[in-house]
Amino acid sequence: MLDVIKLLPDSVANQIAAGEVIQRPASVVKELMENSLDAGATQIDLVVKDAGKALIMVTDNGCGMSETDARLCFERHATSKISKAEDLFSIRTMGFRGEALASIAAIAQVELKTRRQEDEVGVKIINEGSVVKEQTLAPMAVGTTFTIKNLFFNVPARRNFLKSPAAEMRHIVEEFTRVTLMNPEVGFTLTSDGKELYHLYPGNLKQRIMGLFGNSYDGKLLAVNQDTDRVNIHGYIVKAEFAKKTRGEQYFFVNKRFIKHPYLHHAIENAFMEMIPKDSFPGYFLNIEVDPADIDVNIHPTKTEVNFLDVKLVYAILHAAVRKAIGQNNLSPMIDFDEPANLGFDFGEVVKSSNPIVQPSVPIDPTYNPFSQKREFNKSSFGGGFKAPERNGDPGDWRLLYGDRTDQATPHDDSKPHYLQLSQSYIVTTVKSGLLVVDQHLAHFRVLYEKFLKEMETDSGHSQQELFPQPFTLNVNDASLLRELMPELQQVGFAMEQVNPTTFMINGTPADLSGGDPISLLEKMLENYKINRTDLQLERKLGIAKTMAAQLSVKSNTALSEKEMESIVDQLFGCSVAEIAPDGKKIYTLLTLDEINGKLKIENF
Ligand code: ADP
Ligand code: MG
Repeated sequence: MLDVIKLLPDSVANQIAAGEVIQRPASVVKELMENSLDAGATQIDLVVKDAGKALIMVTDNGCGMSETDARLCFERHATSKISKAEDLFSIRTMGFRGEALASIAAIAQVELKTRRQEDEVGVKIINEGSVVKEQTLAPMAVGTTFTIKNLFFNVPARRNFLKSPAAEMRHIVEEFTRVTLMNPEVGFTLTSDGKELYHLYPGNLKQRIMGLFGNSYDGKLLAVNQDTDRVNIHGYIVKAEFAKKTRGEQYFFVNKRFIKHPYLHHAIENAFMEMIPKDSFPGYFLNIEVDPADIDVNIHPTKTEVNFLDVKLVYAILHAAVRKAIGQNNLSPMIDFDEPANLGFDFGEVVKSSNPIVQPSVPIDPTYNPFSQKREFNKSSFGGGFKAPERNGDPGDWRLLYGDRTDQATPHDDSKPHYLQLSQSYIVTTVKSGLLVVDQHLAHFRVLYEKFLKEMETDSGHSQQELFPQPFTLNVNDASLLRELMPELQQVGFAMEQVNPTTFMINGTPADLSGGDPISLLEKMLENYKINRTDLQLERKLGIAKTMAAQLSVKSNTALSEKEMESIVDQLFGCSVAEIAPDGKKIYTLLTLDEINGKLKIENF
């Protein structure tokens, strides 16, 4: 028998390898642009024709290559970026495998022109299907231009598998976006079929995001900045209110390398969880900086997957960083409680010409009853009586509405906001910028949620001793689940011990429970934990805080005293997220003075 094993010629090996690295024109775009960045370019121009099938050209002003390197760069595993195995653990460059150019040359017609600073003239090399066809001197500026023509010319199957030009172009734009996002200090252009699609000037990340996605992003972004000794996270998230219904701008990078990481994505989604509707997606542009030794990027040839040594740590830091950014954006600056609660009315033209008047406060007369029989309207005054203040008229006309009661009936200290309850469900109060209407249940839900989270963080939950320890018996499965939750439950004030495989003794309950039923609360907690079971301590905490807060918060249709209302509103605006309840619902609405003025003016004139 003859031996049957042969070594494949390099050109064939490269062609096979190319299938892995170069799947479509966009892959070429990515590899060439990354090479230009690795070469230290400050300006990179990309030109494509027919969605990259006819032409892909990348020009940079980077370091260029010597004549020898220019020939060598097409060899498989030719790389200037690593030389020994240990280098793999300290990779800072985008490329390192030395297979991109070899792969591209195997399946396309490649022209390389390159010149270093120290060389008088550049070199031009034409390589087709891994064969050098031509080498000449080329007068040119310092830098490198790669021109790739007729991609997959010798792999018809591949070529036929390409999607429509529009789809391939989308892939190219996506790669272009990923590369340009994390390199805002570099200028880029993208020209397709003679039309310039992007012209990105050097700047900072925010300017780059705006350059790519539009100037409207200016007001939509929240900065994320978190430095720890193991992981640094920097970038932007899109404010919750601009979350999109389609998976929009979600960009993760590790050491500036674009990655897909469903688990870390979950950390962000989770941080937003209670702030955006279930069918919307958070947007983000975040770079996670880690010691290259803490990651393994080598697990996939197209390198969008990364293994972290300690992914749970990264998850926790990322989650905290995003929470912090959201918290700092707390909408409360809009709502200023420090000022006395006068309405700050601007009567506009109505009173501009008149004497300065004392700004009216909203009078609250506790004895006032609109349904009282004694209140008799003068019918004629309804017909045309309550006139809107006339232009240049007496600015005091508005007092007619109250029969001048404002003068005597000021039941509250004017320097403090007043609180009214509407329909036993909403707290109504004035703030500097208008009229604030707060859902009492959702507000309290948020307040307690953050309180319980803090207690768990600081291990400071107050427990109230039960006079008679209560036994709590469950089935074996539920008992073991409850045992998993014990550490966190203890932190919020539950004092429990397990006396046998199915029974716990409840010796103490959270102080906030005040008379509530601890057993039904624990059952609810278990029920929710069964739905969202997780190994992550962080999420267990969130779950417990949420269930406790939901159960213990004031419900709608409950009468509240003014003190209670004041306390809820005060605490709400001390929360890190005041706008949205833990279940994603909006907690309050603000009727601004502008809106009020607008409505009244339209009706009155
Ligand atoms: P890798 O980037 O993994 O090293 P490539 O096949 O992409 O492998 O590139 C091979 C080598 O060619 C690089 O290591 C680099 O030395 C050189 N090179 C490629 N593109 C450029 C460029 N635009 N400017 C300067 N050198 C380049
Ligand atoms: Mg490369």
